[in-house]
Amino acid sequence: MCYILCYYEYVIINKIFAKIIHNTRLSRLRNDIGIDLGTANILVYMKGLGIVINEPSVVAVNNKTERVVAVGLEAKNMLGRTPQHIRTVRPIVDGVISDYEVTEEMLSYLINKANNMQNKMLRPRVVIGIPCEITNVETRAVYDAATAAGASEVYIIEEPIAAAIGAGLPIHDAEGVMIVDIGGGTTDIAVLSLGGTVKSRSIKLAGDKLNNDIIGFIKEEYKMSIGEKTAERIKMTIGSAMPVGDISEAVIKGRDLVSGLPKEITLSDNDIRGAMYQTISYIVDAIREVIESTPPEILTDVMKNGMTLTGGGSLIKGLDTLLEMHLKLPVKIADNPLTSVVIGCGIILDDISRYQSLVIDTENAAILR
Ligand code: ADP
Ligand code: MG
Repeated sequence: MCYILCYYEYVIINKIFAKIIHNTRLSRLRNDIGIDLGTANILVYMKGLGIVINEPSVVAVNNKTERVVAVGLEAKNMLGRTPQHIRTVRPIVDGVISDYEVTEEMLSYLINKANNMQNKMLRPRVVIGIPCEITNVETRAVYDAATAAGASEVYIIEEPIAAAIGAGLPIHDAEGVMIVDIGGGTTDIAVLSLGGTVKSRSIKLAGDKLNNDIIGFIKEEYKMSIGEKTAERIKMTIGSAMPVGDISEAVIKGRDLVSGLPKEITLSDNDIRGAMYQTISYIVDAIREVIESTPPEILTDVMKNGMTLTGGGSLIKGLDTLLEMHLKLPVKIADNPLTSVVIGCGIILDDISRYQSLVIDTENAAILR
């Protein structure tokens, strides 16, 4: 009897060791890559190296060859300054892939760039976070693009789920958790429990819309035009969802719409709060609707555990306090709001079998969503 037991133990231990050695060998031979395909920023994570690319989601394309000539910061710096044969594109607008070919080129550029950082023999496995309400066809396009770019296996995951994993929320527990990811083009809201989505919603109102609100306000009130970059800077410096601390002001330069000449004005945090008020209220309403449609048992968990904010938009000053006040539950900003999604993709890469039920089966992407 003892011999039989020992034999079985030996077989099992042998199998476990074989698996560990197999996995370790494979991971040494290939780069595994996580990609956050955000509307404002694209991040790439590589196993063993951490975040290796963190750049704006802008691509410069040569009109004659249709090849990508620059991606990220380099391409963003070309905005408004390109020669005729080059155009700059934001391939993901409002959470939707606006240009397939460019997205494909961009993914290929990113995967190759990351892959070249560590030359390995085998093709990489890739986990990609995509916006929540992307269509089947778009999901399939991302899958095809990553495969064409050389990925051996492609796993696609919805961004709020990746964000929740990256923010360290216990998504596999029976307790419900709530995540709100406020990016550039979309705000994705999700209630998760037992490793699945209970309720989710994505609205096309987030950081970009707030920039446009500020541009519109200055145009209307001061008859002055400013660029998107200036608007974003105003939002980040004196923008707030609620009064926080002392009154802050900023001197803004732009062009007088009447005379066409340069002009300077001084704006206060109060002005900018007014400009952003409507969009922020819509975001609050969308979150409220998700809370209202969450089943009571899970809502009790959410009330207790609170809501976690991720994405660059969560950094708007006073937004967490405003949400707490209006929604009557604790609100916490993740420790890594700008990198939660890509970190989540990295965690998935480390243990794909554990997260298998959460990833979209890309082989059959068209039928699974
Ligand atoms: P995405 O996932 O869509 O690429 P991100 O999560 O990277 O978006 O967030 C980008 C958005 O966050 C932009 O609209 C940017 O202006 C905004 N943002 C980043 N930092 C701040 C900040 N400190 N205050 C307010 N907004 C911010
Ligand atoms: Mg994002």
